[in-house]
Amino acid sequence: MPFLHRNNRAELAADWQDLVARHVSAWKLLDDQERAVLATHLEVLVTTKRWEAAQGFELTDRVRTVIAAQAALLVLELDLDHYCDVDSIIVHPSTMRFDRTSQGPVPGTEVCGSVDLLGEASYRGPVVIAWDSASAAARHPDRGHDVVLHEFAHKLDMLDGTVDGTPPLADPDLRQRWIEICTYEFDELAGSDGDTLIDGYGATDPGEFFAVVTETFFTLPTELEAVKPGLYDLFRAFYRQDPAARVRRHGRTLR
Ligand SMILES: [Zn+2]
Repeated sequence: MPFLHRNNRAELAADWQDLVARHVSAWKLLDDQERAVLATHLEVLVTTKRWEAAQGFELTDRVRTVIAAQAALLVLELDLDHYCDVDSIIVHPSTMRFDRTSQGPVPGTEVCGSVDLLGEASYRGPVVIAWDSASAAARHPDRGHDVVLHEFAHKLDMLDGTVDGTPPLADPDLRQRWIEICTYEFDELAGSDGDTLIDGYGATDPGEFFAVVTETFFTLPTELEAVKPGLYDLFRAFYRQDPAARVRRHGRTLR
């Protein structure tokens, strides 16, 4: 783990709206009411969460504002208490390489190696983000990936204490549909040949499935709705947002 440079105290940038308008593509699709909510969420995230930069990287207003805006978009229609477990956000300039030890193929053995990560979220721990990937995704959602949406989605999944691909769902009917449809779609993705709208990484486990589908739901919403309408409806019900309708209302795709 690289030495971390603490830069915890932050204020909302005076030009936050200009930064979001220039660097977060989704902003132009939001109506006035949604922009007002996003602004409120963004300010809370910037000013109350602890922001840290990896050594050699400088936290700027743009870095904090873009990451906070993407995280705010995820919970635009949910309570910000959904991020109660996010106490710090650690930003690295680029892909992170970590040494990891995992269980080997023979019981009782361990395999040591390194893994490259764009981000990471741990239970009751920080959210770690690679800035270059986050920045590119905020500007080019049509690529279908967004590390900020992915890692903060993991935090939502963790709210009930387990990473199982099922975030807290108060409605028992929705919860039942969630389990049925996500189980079916997870198995379908796991058995696919790799040429899928939903990234194959989602077949790693149910937790990754939720995070990856969240990325697709927000970045390629009309495509997901067309290909997987049942799955799209589930995520629309949970997030209480309809990003495909937003794209249609705007009269063109995000591209
Ligand atoms: Zn993940």
